[in-house]
Amino acid sequence: MLDVRFIREHPEIVQDAARKKRMDVDVQHFLDIDIQRRELLSKIETLKALRNKTSKDIPTLQGDKKQEAIARMKEVAAESKELEGPLREVEAAFETLMLQMPNIPSDDVPEGESDADNVELRTWGEIPEFDFEPRDHVELGEMLDMIDIPRASKLAGARTYFLKNAGVLLEQAVLQFSLYHMVNKGFTPFVVPHLVRDQAMTGTAYFPAGREQAYRMSEDDLNLIGTSEVPVTSYHADETLREDELPKYYAGLSSCYRREAGTYGKDTRGLYRVHQFQKVEQVIICRNDPEVSTREHDHILNNAEEVLQALGLPYRVVLVCGGDLGGPQIKKYDIEAWMPGRGDYGETHSASKFHDFQARRLNIRYREQEDGALKFVHTLNNTVIASPRVLIPLLELNQRRDGSVAIPEVLQPFMGGMKEIVPR
Ligand code: AMP
Repeated sequence: MLDVRFIREHPEIVQDAARKKRMDVDVQHFLDIDIQRRELLSKIETLKALRNKTSKDIPTLQGDKKQEAIARMKEVAAESKELEGPLREVEAAFETLMLQMPNIPSDDVPEGESDADNVELRTWGEIPEFDFEPRDHVELGEMLDMIDIPRASKLAGARTYFLKNAGVLLEQAVLQFSLYHMVNKGFTPFVVPHLVRDQAMTGTAYFPAGREQAYRMSEDDLNLIGTSEVPVTSYHADETLREDELPKYYAGLSSCYRREAGTYGKDTRGLYRVHQFQKVEQVIICRNDPEVSTREHDHILNNAEEVLQALGLPYRVVLVCGGDLGGPQIKKYDIEAWMPGRGDYGETHSASKFHDFQARRLNIRYREQEDGALKFVHTLNNTVIASPRVLIPLLELNQRRDGSVAIPEVLQPFMGGMKEIVPR
């Protein structure tokens, strides 16, 4: 959430942010509502002051004067009551519109409509040439009895899967390896609630815009998380932290649940886009300082690159363009690993910088040591690893002619020393 004073003082910057992000937002309409709200509040305050004064005066008055004052009190009370309905309406409109105001993208965010306009910054690793016809992860998964999509579809519909045998071991290994990677770097690991209240979803800015992507437990007013970013970032909601305890380095491990609304017909083959997956996510909470945020953004990007490099998966880093940037982000890098079956890079990581956009909604503050000033923290997050998507490059890039798959060295200790997966 932006500071309302910033929107009042710089409406043109906010409108341009919406344009760059291809969001349908009318900042002037918001300002009109803001004026109506402030006028109503001021009228109600004036009437309240008049009532207070008159009620103090009444005991000192006599006869007609007293009766007049009592009649006037009644009029003022009725007038105040009449304003309550319009105020409630305008407050609701104000809050709805306030949550729609986009964060301001940084100047180096490229212009563009969609992910096709993201800008490649660098690549790492060699894209392998196979001297045989490579199989994709669905064929390999079936051959190795690791992945069963048809049976999952029968009982759970589209975008679902069973992992079996080495599929389970490989997923657990890659999650464990990634979690330890972060713990060794000083990140605090978290297992989190998978069901959260609306406040956590709104606080991290997944609601209201992404409401249709969340599975909702309406009987209990709870929502299944699409990422552990939601509970981990919300962990300090409504708290005031000390400056000397920042930055906070957190790593959440959770299942993630996504309706994938609006993606009908997209990425329908295999494990790429599914309704439920596992993820280790890194979250940083730091001081309200753009330079610190930028450093931490590079930090979380680098952590993720280290994981892919250790796994030996070739990838590229792209700078996400305005049209592909969410409303809450200042700037975002995606990492995309090479996926031979798609004949293309596919997104495996998303590193976002928010400044105080989430912290304002979650009310996470800290007190500056130097002058005692209260400030909202900055927040950032990035994937460490998401599975089963990462199983796609792991299987497809490490396959051999006979359908067996070599296991990257760093994962072998997490798989009881297993070095390869062979057809059963
Ligand atoms: P996000 O939280 O949307 O930035 O996604 C983080 C990472 O989770 C992506 O880069 C993917 O690796 C993975 N991911 C996101 N959505 C899905 C999905 N529907 N199915 C499988 N993996 C996903």
